[in-house]
Amino acid sequence: MKVAVPKESEPGEKRVALVPDTAKTLIAAGLEVSVEHDAGTSAYLADEAYEKAGVKVEDRAGTMLHYADAVLKVQAPRESEISLLKKGAVLISFLQPATQGDIVRSLAQHGITSFSLELLPRISRAQSMDALSSQASASGYKAVLMAADRLGKFFPMMMTAAGTVAPARVLVMGAGVAGLQAIATARRLGAVVSAYDVRPAVKEEVQSLGATFIELPLETQEGEGGYAREQSEEFLSKQRELIGEHVAKSDVVITTAAVPGRRAPLLVTKDMVKGMRPGSVIVDLAAETGGNVELTQAGKDVDVGGVTILGTRNVPSTMALHTSQLYARNVANLLLNMVKNGALHLDFSDEITKGSCVTHGGEIVSDRAKQLLGAAS
Ligand code: NAD
Repeated sequence: MKVAVPKESEPGEKRVALVPDTAKTLIAAGLEVSVEHDAGTSAYLADEAYEKAGVKVEDRAGTMLHYADAVLKVQAPRESEISLLKKGAVLISFLQPATQGDIVRSLAQHGITSFSLELLPRISRAQSMDALSSQASASGYKAVLMAADRLGKFFPMMMTAAGTVAPARVLVMGAGVAGLQAIATARRLGAVVSAYDVRPAVKEEVQSLGATFIELPLETQEGEGGYAREQSEEFLSKQRELIGEHVAKSDVVITTAAVPGRRAPLLVTKDMVKGMRPGSVIVDLAAETGGNVELTQAGKDVDVGGVTILGTRNVPSTMALHTSQLYARNVANLLLNMVKNGALHLDFSDEITKGSCVTHGGEIVSDRAKQLLGAAS
């Protein structure tokens, strides 16, 4: 079975879907692995490191993709890559089925068996394959460092001969995987942290990290599978009204709120930003899915009366070495779950295979992807 890893073509994407250490695991399982020349360079992984691990480094992706039985990528493939793949090949990557309708349809038309990491069921057995979590965790960590770098204040309380400095106040909105990692990181830096989520189930986790859980007199918005459900405009407007005073008191606000397959909910309005003290910083981790903050511009830093809003895109790519390492393990574990005695063995009675498969045998087979595509169009 041949596994191919092309260099990512999305501008700004520095991660690679397979690192040399993980390639060794695939090779030990009887697979033949090739990577495109320079595939790992932007993640500080040289071609020689892959060769040392037993990987074949190919000058160009074309032939390698054409003969591959499985292709591993970070970002969804482009049309030009899909047309190179052979019918029946397996593709594993982030596919963003909600926004990549054309790509998903093209994968089906080309007879590719594609798996979207966004659709992986969040069951215990799939935790080691959960790339959404590994990458969200990295984003939550980095969001705090970005905020600390831009804040004109210290995070910890400091007692100096020149006087005592109060600790920074950090508010984390959305306490899922990214939010919890942001809370832990901000606490490690010594900030006073509070957090809010529409799922009260996270209260204990927030508190166990040493942060205060903000409870608002609103009904819970717990949806399926531990995720939040889509909220009404009426709910969100009440939420903004109630959370306003907490935002105004904060030096740093980190927003991570998301509802799978939907535009990110609007949590912080223009007026709420204007109510913050100059010098404060907002990091909007939902920038790429519409933003949790009204004034966020994806990929840009915005200054609103001295308040900085960071809408950095693709935060995991800014730590490409570690995020590639984690991603590679996630992807390799998912692939190996579909391999028996060195050959592809697709078992659609396996919840993991069935849940994450988007296209197979010329069709879009995932109900969830169909739903997301329907909602998007
Ligand atoms: P996500 O990225 O979809 O959303 C981030 C957070 O935003 C969620 O906690 C959500 O409740 C919150 N949110 C949505 N709307 C909001 C609003 N209006 N205001 C404030 N917060 C809002 O979620 P995620 O981080 O991927 O994780 C969701 C859940 O899945 C968590 O409970 C997590 O622990 C769980 N999970 C389980 C597994 C597993 O293997 N069992 C693995 C990973 C995650």
